Amino acid sequence: MRPHRPRPAPVPSALDDTERHPLDHTSPRPARRLILQATALAAVPYALLPGPPAGARAPGPDHPPAEWRPASTANYTKGDRSAPRPVDRVIIHVTQTQYTNTLFVFANPRKKVSAHYVVRSADGHTSQCVRESDIAWHAGDWAHNTRSIGIEHEGWVDRPDYFTDVMYETSARLTAAVCARHGIPTDRAHIIGHHEVPGSDHTDPGPGWDWSRYIRLVNAV
Ligand SMILES: [Zn+2]
Repeated sequence: MRPHRPRPAPVPSALDDTERHPLDHTSPRPARRLILQATALAAVPYALLPGPPAGARAPGPDHPPAEWRPASTANYTKGDRSAPRPVDRVIIHVTQTQYTNTLFVFANPRKKVSAHYVVRSADGHTSQCVRESDIAWHAGDWAHNTRSIGIEHEGWVDRPDYFTDVMYETSARLTAAVCARHGIPTDRAHIIGHHEVPGSDHTDPGPGWDWSRYIRLVNAV
């Protein structure tokens, strides 16, 4: 029998966050059950929450150079260990807000948005917010969320000056490592922009993103 896989479902409007954020990649929404679980957990004093089970892997980055800055557990879907999902895409994003604000957004359980990684413009410093085995909510499309790793880059689609040499180089090393871990070909068919997700109304990373340079850097690692 095929294992049951939860499907996304619309979230009741009462739970919607009315403040739409530039990072809002939320459609389609995760299953209501997950939202309700998260809401219930949010009401429990932190000290009463159970600790990780014995032998559980301690939180930490999958990509060792990255800093572990976890997203709220209300902002992504835990991976289903009994049914491993193949990951065959890396999706490139631009934040449309500052690096620090992006981390705040991902840590805010009301935002319902996350990405696996965020890369800072000035120095390429990278944070991991969602484990690669979990499903971040970044593509605005459930099928693409389940099959991809999402990387946010600090900047704006109409401000290519934010796309610094160090950010390209650091991000390319990250993407190369992600592709190696998951067996993803390092080409433009598998390393795509958010705007290339079918049905997406987002334009990131925008025309200022130098794709030929980026793919060349990924393959030079
Ligand atoms: Zn995006």
